[in-house]
Amino acid sequence: MYTQKIVLRFSKKTWDKPIVYRLAKEYDLVFNILKASIFPKQESVMILELSGTEENYHRGIEYLMNKGITVEPIEHDIERDDTTCIHCGACTAVCPTEALSIKRETMEVLFSTEMCVGCELCIKACPVRAMKASF
Ligand code: SF4
Ligand code: SF4
Repeated sequence: MYTQKIVLRFSKKTWDKPIVYRLAKEYDLVFNILKASIFPKQESVMILELSGTEENYHRGIEYLMNKGITVEPIEHDIERDDTTCIHCGACTAVCPTEALSIKRETMEVLFSTEMCVGCELCIKACPVRAMKASF
Protein backbone atom coordinates (compact mmCIF):
# COMPACT_ATOMS: atom_id res chain seq x y z
CA MET A 1 0.00 0.00 0.00
CA TYR A 2 1.35 3.40 -1.05
CA THR A 3 0.24 6.37 1.07
CA GLN A 4 0.94 10.05 0.57
CA LYS A 5 -0.33 13.30 2.04
CA ILE A 6 -0.92 16.04 -0.51
CA VAL A 7 -2.20 19.59 -0.69
CA LEU A 8 -4.67 20.35 -3.49
CA ARG A 9 -5.18 23.93 -4.54
CA PHE A 10 -8.28 24.79 -6.52
CA SER A 11 -8.78 27.91 -8.59
CA LYS A 12 -12.02 29.80 -9.13
CA LYS A 13 -12.62 27.51 -12.12
CA THR A 14 -11.81 24.16 -10.51
CA TRP A 15 -13.24 24.42 -6.98
CA ASP A 16 -16.39 22.42 -7.82
CA LYS A 17 -14.83 19.42 -9.62
CA PRO A 18 -15.98 16.07 -8.10
CA ILE A 19 -12.39 14.88 -7.79
CA VAL A 20 -12.57 12.86 -4.59
CA TYR A 21 -15.37 10.73 -5.95
CA ARG A 22 -13.39 10.03 -9.12
CA LEU A 23 -10.18 9.22 -7.26
CA ALA A 24 -12.04 6.52 -5.35
CA LYS A 25 -14.19 5.21 -8.19
CA GLU A 26 -11.80 5.29 -11.16
CA TYR A 27 -8.40 4.93 -9.50
CA ASP A 28 -9.37 2.74 -6.54
CA LEU A 29 -7.72 5.13 -4.10
CA VAL A 30 -8.74 5.35 -0.45
CA PHE A 31 -8.88 8.94 0.71
CA ASN A 32 -8.91 10.67 4.05
CA ILE A 33 -9.72 14.37 3.92
CA LEU A 34 -7.55 15.88 6.65
CA LYS A 35 -8.83 19.39 6.06
CA ALA A 36 -10.77 21.28 3.42
CA SER A 37 -11.28 24.98 3.05
CA ILE A 38 -13.59 25.11 0.06
CA PHE A 39 -15.17 28.40 -0.90
CA PRO A 40 -17.66 28.61 -3.80
CA LYS A 41 -16.05 30.23 -6.86
CA GLN A 42 -12.90 31.14 -4.93
CA GLU A 43 -9.44 29.69 -4.45
CA SER A 44 -9.71 26.70 -2.13
CA VAL A 45 -7.42 24.21 -0.40
CA MET A 46 -7.87 20.56 0.51
CA ILE A 47 -5.41 18.37 2.39
CA LEU A 48 -5.79 14.70 1.55
CA GLU A 49 -4.19 11.44 2.52
CA LEU A 50 -4.35 9.06 -0.45
CA SER A 51 -3.68 5.32 -0.34
CA GLY A 52 -3.63 2.68 -3.05
CA THR A 53 -1.18 1.02 -5.39
CA GLU A 54 1.70 3.26 -6.40
CA GLU A 55 0.62 3.05 -10.04
CA ASN A 56 -2.95 4.10 -9.24
CA TYR A 57 -1.69 6.90 -7.01
CA HIS A 58 0.37 8.38 -9.84
CA ARG A 59 -2.49 7.95 -12.31
CA GLY A 60 -4.78 9.74 -9.86
CA ILE A 61 -2.32 12.60 -9.46
CA GLU A 62 -2.04 12.91 -13.24
CA TYR A 63 -5.84 13.07 -13.43
CA LEU A 64 -5.91 15.91 -10.88
CA MET A 65 -3.24 17.88 -12.70
CA ASN A 66 -5.03 17.43 -16.02
CA LYS A 67 -8.10 18.96 -14.37
CA GLY A 68 -6.08 22.09 -13.59
CA ILE A 69 -5.72 21.37 -9.87
CA THR A 70 -2.36 22.15 -8.30
CA VAL A 71 -0.97 19.17 -6.38
CA GLU A 72 1.83 19.57 -3.84
CA PRO A 73 3.24 16.65 -1.88
CA ILE A 74 3.71 17.16 1.84
CA GLU A 75 7.31 16.18 2.44
CA HIS A 76 8.85 18.40 5.03
CA ASP A 77 8.73 18.68 8.76
CA ILE A 78 7.76 22.13 9.93
CA GLU A 79 9.54 23.84 12.77
CA ARG A 80 9.01 27.08 14.62
CA ASP A 81 11.87 29.25 15.79
CA ASP A 82 10.56 30.14 19.22
CA THR A 83 13.16 32.89 19.64
CA THR A 84 11.79 34.69 16.55
CA CYS A 85 8.03 34.14 17.02
CA ILE A 86 6.27 37.24 18.31
CA HIS A 87 2.94 35.44 18.91
CA CYS A 88 1.09 37.73 16.51
CA GLY A 89 -1.39 34.96 15.61
CA ALA A 90 -1.22 35.45 11.84
CA CYS A 91 -0.35 31.79 11.27
CA THR A 92 -3.39 30.54 13.18
CA ALA A 93 -5.68 32.08 10.55
CA VAL A 94 -4.23 29.94 7.74
CA CYS A 95 -3.40 26.68 9.53
CA PRO A 96 -5.94 24.13 8.26
CA THR A 97 -5.47 21.60 11.06
CA GLU A 98 -5.36 23.88 14.11
CA ALA A 99 -1.77 22.82 14.74
CA LEU A 100 -1.27 26.51 15.46
CA SER A 101 -3.69 27.85 18.02
CA ILE A 102 -4.04 30.70 20.47
CA LYS A 103 -4.11 29.97 24.18
CA ARG A 104 -6.74 32.50 25.23
CA GLU A 105 -5.58 32.94 28.81
CA THR A 106 -2.12 34.18 27.80
CA MET A 107 -2.62 34.95 24.06
CA GLU A 108 0.37 32.71 23.43
CA VAL A 109 0.44 30.93 20.05
CA LEU A 110 0.89 27.19 20.56
CA PHE A 111 2.36 24.87 17.92
CA SER A 112 1.52 21.16 17.92
CA THR A 113 3.90 19.20 15.69
CA GLU A 114 1.62 16.15 16.03
CA MET A 115 -1.28 18.01 14.40
CA CYS A 116 0.86 19.61 11.68
CA VAL A 117 0.46 18.06 8.20
CA GLY A 118 3.28 20.09 6.66
CA CYS A 119 1.22 22.10 4.19
CA GLU A 120 3.56 25.10 4.63
CA LEU A 121 0.73 27.68 4.56
CA CYS A 122 2.05 29.20 7.79
CA ILE A 123 5.47 29.87 6.30
CA LYS A 124 4.15 32.52 3.93
CA ALA A 125 1.81 33.94 6.55
CA CYS A 126 4.46 34.55 9.22
CA PRO A 127 5.71 38.15 9.10
CA VAL A 128 8.98 37.36 10.87
CA ARG A 129 9.74 34.02 9.16
CA ALA A 130 9.56 32.03 12.36
CA MET A 131 7.94 29.02 10.63
CA LYS A 132 10.38 26.94 8.62
CA ALA A 133 10.47 23.71 6.63
CA SER A 134 13.29 21.40 7.62
CA PHE A 135 14.89 19.32 4.88
S1 SF4 B 1 2.78 34.17 12.35
FE1 SF4 B 1 4.91 33.81 12.95
S2 SF4 B 1 5.32 35.32 14.55
FE2 SF4 B 1 3.10 35.21 14.30
S3 SF4 B 1 2.47 33.68 15.85
FE3 SF4 B 1 2.77 32.58 13.94
S4 SF4 B 1 4.89 31.83 14.04
FE4 SF4 B 1 4.69 33.43 15.59
S1 SF4 C 1 2.54 23.54 7.98
FE1 SF4 C 1 1.85 25.26 9.21
S2 SF4 C 1 -0.19 25.76 8.42
FE2 SF4 C 1 0.30 23.70 7.67
S3 SF4 C 1 -0.53 22.32 9.22
FE3 SF4 C 1 1.59 22.69 9.82
S4 SF4 C 1 1.49 24.38 11.25
FE4 SF4 C 1 -0.47 24.36 10.15
